[in-house]
Amino acid sequence: MRIIKPSIKIVLPLLLCMAALLVGLYLKSEQVVPTTTSVPGQELSSMTSEDKHDSPDSRDFSRFVVCLDPGHSSDGSDGKAKVNGVTELEINWEVAEKLKRALEERYRVRVVMTRDERDKTVGNRQRAEVANNAHADLFFRLHCDWEATGKQFGFTFYYPAQAGTAEGRTGPSADVMRSSQKAAMSIHSGTAKALNGALTDHGIKTDDSTYIGHSQGGALTGSIFSEIPVVLIEMVYLSNKSDAEFIKSDKGQQVMADSLAEGIVEYLRSVP
Ligand SMILES: [Zn+2]
Repeated sequence: MRIIKPSIKIVLPLLLCMAALLVGLYLKSEQVVPTTTSVPGQELSSMTSEDKHDSPDSRDFSRFVVCLDPGHSSDGSDGKAKVNGVTELEINWEVAEKLKRALEERYRVRVVMTRDERDKTVGNRQRAEVANNAHADLFFRLHCDWEATGKQFGFTFYYPAQAGTAEGRTGPSADVMRSSQKAAMSIHSGTAKALNGALTDHGIKTDDSTYIGHSQGGALTGSIFSEIPVVLIEMVYLSNKSDAEFIKSDKGQQVMADSLAEGIVEYLRSVP
């Protein structure tokens, strides 16, 4: 039997056609994939060609709402004690403002604050209610730590891993605890990467490891009343000189805010 060998004149153009087709498919997927991942839930057909050019870089998070809670003044503490020349109230407020700008301007995240003036007193329950009423995707709380020896330093994230009771309510729900853990892990990972060793990383702990969380059965009041994923950061120990110097400076605050924005966006990317 004679085997018919296809002539090179036929095979070469065929191969070239296939290669062109594959390159075309590859380029097409390169264009489409970042757009769909960057704007989850948004129909491609609803995007104008201009959108495709302007935001293929996964920076459009406009479908998300994040509620930022600059810690204090709230029940129990006004945050106004001067430590190493600065108050916790000032730092929480300054970093929250910078974080709000970073999320809005860089990623188009819609940001809701738990209060509109620095010196207003808002209880922890009310803070959670602001986040719930905004139907936020994340309730993110900013604090600074303090301890007596001045030797502790660095940042720590907290989330509720068990329910607690405050003001007659037991919470949060198992769903909120699960999603809070997921949020804490993503935010910690993105933030730590961006901080790149600028501060010491103490990782993630649970509300139960805080004095108040433990005394309420395992959760902080803001977590108990939260119906959405809730994560808190203690950004630094103000009682530590070098931590205080870092976070007192405009530059340090900006580094912290930018890093937190990276962490929050890392979490939002994972939200279906
Ligand atoms: Zn605090």
